[in-house]
Amino acid sequence: MTGAPSEIKDELKPCPFCGATAEVIGPMPADGFGNEGGYVVECTQCQASSRVHFPTMDDARPFAIGAWNRRATAEGQPS
Ligand SMILES: [Zn+2]
Repeated sequence: MTGAPSEIKDELKPCPFCGATAEVIGPMPADGFGNEGGYVVECTQCQASSRVHFPTMDDARPFAIGAWNRRATAEGQPS
């Protein structure tokens, strides 16, 4: 009987491939692939990852999380 609305905005959906927990990685260190400073959401189990998002005016994490969640939602659907 709590009924309190969740205020979690950065909740990550499970991996669309294996169902494991995903996590936001970033800002990324220089890796030789031009991803330095970017954020990516990566599965903790199978290492599936979103594309890398770079901070512009705001924190890039919401964009990376949004992209990941859309992918998880669109599982099995043609894009
Ligand atoms: Zn996975």
